[in-house]
Amino acid sequence: MAYDVVIIGAGHNGLTAAAYLARAGRKVLVLERRPVVGGAAISEHPFGPDYTVTALSYVVSWLDRAMVRDLRLEEHGYHVYPQGPYFAPRRDGRHLRLPDDPAARHEEIAKFSRKDADAYAEWDAWLGRLGRLVGPLLHEIPPKVGSKRPADLLSQAGLLGRLRGAGVRDAFDLTRLFTASVADIVEDRFASDAMRGVLSVSGVIGGWAGPRSAGTAYVMLHHHLGDAVDGQVGAWGFPRGGMGAVSGAIAAAARGFGAEIRTDAEVARIDTRDGRAVGVTLGDGTEIKASTVVTTAHPQISFLRLLDRADLPGDFVRDIEAYRSRSGTVKINYAVDRLPVFASHPDFDPQVHGGTIVLSESLDDVEGAFREAAAGQPATLPFADVCIPSVFDPTLAPEGHHIVSAFTQWVPHTYASTPDRAGLSAYADRLTARLEAVAPGFTASVVGRQVIGPHEMQQEYALPGGNIFHGELVPGQMFHCRPAAGYADLRTPVKGLYQAGSATHGGGGVTGVPGRNVVRQILRDQRRFRLGFGSR
Ligand SMILES: Cc1cc2nc3c(=O)[nH]c(=O)nc-3n(C[C@H](O)[C@H](O)[C@H](O)COP(=O)(O)OP(=O)(O)OC[C@H]3O[C@@H](n4cnc5c(N)ncnc54)[C@H](O)[C@@H]3O)c2cc1C
Repeated sequence: MAYDVVIIGAGHNGLTAAAYLARAGRKVLVLERRPVVGGAAISEHPFGPDYTVTALSYVVSWLDRAMVRDLRLEEHGYHVYPQGPYFAPRRDGRHLRLPDDPAARHEEIAKFSRKDADAYAEWDAWLGRLGRLVGPLLHEIPPKVGSKRPADLLSQAGLLGRLRGAGVRDAFDLTRLFTASVADIVEDRFASDAMRGVLSVSGVIGGWAGPRSAGTAYVMLHHHLGDAVDGQVGAWGFPRGGMGAVSGAIAAAARGFGAEIRTDAEVARIDTRDGRAVGVTLGDGTEIKASTVVTTAHPQISFLRLLDRADLPGDFVRDIEAYRSRSGTVKINYAVDRLPVFASHPDFDPQVHGGTIVLSESLDDVEGAFREAAAGQPATLPFADVCIPSVFDPTLAPEGHHIVSAFTQWVPHTYASTPDRAGLSAYADRLTARLEAVAPGFTASVVGRQVIGPHEMQQEYALPGGNIFHGELVPGQMFHCRPAAGYADLRTPVKGLYQAGSATHGGGGVTGVPGRNVVRQILRDQRRFRLGFGSR
């Protein structure tokens, strides 16, 4: 059977592309190797049907708001509960909180440092301003920087036009942010270990770099770019039903527009003829014809496994081979039979228990955890970004029970290919002990534990190297450099083959941006072709 478009991968980007293409009247087929849709945005039931675990990704911020409207996702069940503010409990029985109310926040920070309390408002405004400058660029198809073709020169000029709001100070600050370490930026403004520990985490989430590594300052800014929650820049939220419900809503929209989605359908080869994609062949030998193919798999899968390298330009192959996807992230999900009782805040408070619970007491601890992993040892004191989505979403666990999601770093990134099961399990035990130290009784409340390390991410979820974003979010792999020179515009060296996974610009996170933009690019190319301007 022939289709207009075949999409490889039913992660949220593949589903988004399918929905927009089907809405535009194309005959679309999505092929997913796993038995379920969603990719890294999934909900699972590892502890039985009564518990719904948002297995990998767990909070939304970057999801394209235009897409939520266009695809009418709310009609398909999409709903986000705003996540509460930072709460960082410490082993000495204290905690740092950053409530939304400025006066209350000042009081909380001043418990650790008056200077830090005074500095925070300016910091928040500064990051907000830079976020508003850079954020819209996340939604763009990057211009082909360096190309002298008239159309490319025009889009480069368009980019400069969109940055015209940036003044001399912004240009300076942005350049520093792109090149500095998060430690440089945070230590310049804050004195207390407590503030430095909490703020440094967003610079290293999902990455293979400690807070003293160059480039991590940008990652921190990146985590302030989203506005999926009430249009508020930098806010995060829990999707009802876990991340799987986001993918489920997009899949329902895609099916509603007429797209076909097939699971347990692994693509073994992208078929080409005379340098043009003509379809795909599945692992069982089934051939499916299509004039356009979109891949949302990691580029090292798409270009080094599903295609013959000899059919690709040498420098493109080298870029893809050199594209870095290390991480050392471990996701640990718990089912508990009661809420944690924090020693420093024993009473239930939805803004605490439903907040952004950070286990990181100092920047040096975070750096130390990275250095141990870089030296080949899982961290002695893993840091963690913890949340309890069931505080707001009662559909996730039986009454009184809860899901505790802990995003933790680091084990050696080499665990992706050479796992150490005992080492991973001992690491998870240390994280449990870290939770026990701030919430006595936590260990006894655990009725289930799921540990997903780099190897599982690579093998089960098709995330090579265990990197959560299909490739490290470092300035050298962002914007026009994601994932290869000259191909950040979602095209590829093979005519009719497009890319739209998280390894493309706007990707890295549950954004839907690559999935949406690839459709703009395909439709634009088809129009140009009909008008005789090109042959893509
Ligand atoms: C532990 C973890 C925590 C995260 N936390 C967050 C978070 O809180 N918030 C956030 O915004 N982002 C988070 N992320 C990142 C985010 O989940 C991903 O960037 C995003 O979901 C990737 O979407 P995608 O559609 O581009 O790719 P994927 O979801 O990876 O989808 C690609 C799909 O392609 C399929 N596939 C691969 N090869 C083939 C083949 N040959 N044939 C057929 N199918 C194939 C895969 O099985 C997969 O389903 C997290 C990721 C992880 C792993």
